Amino acid sequence: MTVRVRFAPSPTGYVHIGGLRTALYNYLFAKQNDGKYILRIEDTDRTRYVEGAVEGIVKAMEWSGVMHDEGLFLEDGKLVQRGECGPYVQSERLDIYKEYIEKLLEGGHAYYCFCSKERLEKVRQEQKAKGLTPKYDGFCRDISLQEARKRAANGEAHVIRLRLPENKDITFDDIVRGKVTMNTSDLDDQVLMKTDGYPTYHFAVIVDDHLMGITHVIRGEEWLSSTPKHIFMYEAFGWEAPQFVHLPNILNKNKKKLSKRHGDVAVEDFEKKGYLPEALVNYIALVGWNPEGTGEIMSIEEMIEKFSLDRVSKSGGVFDVDKLNWVNSHYIKNGDLDRLTKLCIPYLVEDGLIKEEEKDEKFEWVKRIVKSAQERIEYLAQISEYAKRFFGEEVELENEDVKDMLKKEHVASLLNIFKDKVKNADEINDEFGKKVFKMIQKESGIKGKNLYMPIRAALTGQLHGPDIDQIIVILGRDTIIKRVEYVEKNYI
Ligand code: GLU
Repeated sequence: MTVRVRFAPSPTGYVHIGGLRTALYNYLFAKQNDGKYILRIEDTDRTRYVEGAVEGIVKAMEWSGVMHDEGLFLEDGKLVQRGECGPYVQSERLDIYKEYIEKLLEGGHAYYCFCSKERLEKVRQEQKAKGLTPKYDGFCRDISLQEARKRAANGEAHVIRLRLPENKDITFDDIVRGKVTMNTSDLDDQVLMKTDGYPTYHFAVIVDDHLMGITHVIRGEEWLSSTPKHIFMYEAFGWEAPQFVHLPNILNKNKKKLSKRHGDVAVEDFEKKGYLPEALVNYIALVGWNPEGTGEIMSIEEMIEKFSLDRVSKSGGVFDVDKLNWVNSHYIKNGDLDRLTKLCIPYLVEDGLIKEEEKDEKFEWVKRIVKSAQERIEYLAQISEYAKRFFGEEVELENEDVKDMLKKEHVASLLNIFKDKVKNADEINDEFGKKVFKMIQKESGIKGKNLYMPIRAALTGQLHGPDIDQIIVILGRDTIIKRVEYVEKNYI
């Protein structure tokens, strides 16, 4: 059996971080089993359709690197579909659903329902008043198919519902949750086809999973309670049901479902803040999966090797942004400098530190800043705050300690010697950054803290921060001299 799995988001907005994890687990499982991973768009709920959301989904997937083998792709900014089992967009498959709903109607497993919204609402209210769980009361169940077809042909508004048997246990094995049993008396006669001629999710999902040869349905736990209805439909069609895997929710620190109200949840939010895709993917993999015998930093190849549905937990995984930041800073520290620089430049442009048209000529300089930031930032949007210290010719002192440092007796002459060295250097490069202190020490006898601290204070207004030799190289001759002169004039 060739494993075939799918991620089937609805284009209702952004891709939630939980969606990325679902996609990832599907991907890992497929790759581990030499299978295929499919991206399908479930857009049958037209009221929730958001323009541009499909492109957003594909972009988020491409960005994350969790790439599918079949489904929708962007080519020169245009959506295209690739794969044997298309179309991969449910709204393009309406004829297929029509064909298959006929089979259920003919087999007596589905029926037309002509109840008005008002009637359904009345029934609901009555049931609620009696303390019952609201569900369809079966009013149209016994209308003969022949009569129902006539009424429908006459233009009477209708839906088509699933005819569930009464009081029947439906059981299935979920790979994460084990045996799950539900009785049909707790289930509703689900609407399968709506008045607008579109199928509901529940119908489209089983037709598509079957026709696309899906062997394992790996999805969020919110669908667990719908699965018995799906199983029933597989049986009604005489199809073999796939294996089911319901993934635990992603929770916030208060153990509530992670939602937009509590901060970033969209993949694009994380992208905008400068989380690296491999870091986000690495972190999110761990929210709900406990890999065996391995550290927490894992490449996608390691994840493919180690992934196991048996080690996916039943209970919700907590999304911890501090941990994500830790993982991200690991990838920043170890990241390719050219790539990081390219990714950082837009933040510097947006924050007005460099101009769009300067970005090529300043690339090497920015790269130095990024290099010194690598150990110090958790996500790339923090680069501007970090880089600010390297812009401008005036120096603001951070606190009284800095002031006191600059008031020390030897500082005036120390800064003079330092300025001289900078002026006379052939080039302000790494070598100079390293040797200038040795030269000054030799010449003046000043050493240790008394040597480094006043120079750091004069160049940055602070007593702590990035390595001083890096600061010197990044600032360069002109800025160093201007800053030292500014400090001499204002603080000494
Ligand atoms: N379209 C559903 C969603 O948006 C997919 C559920 C499933 O994977 O079956 O979550």
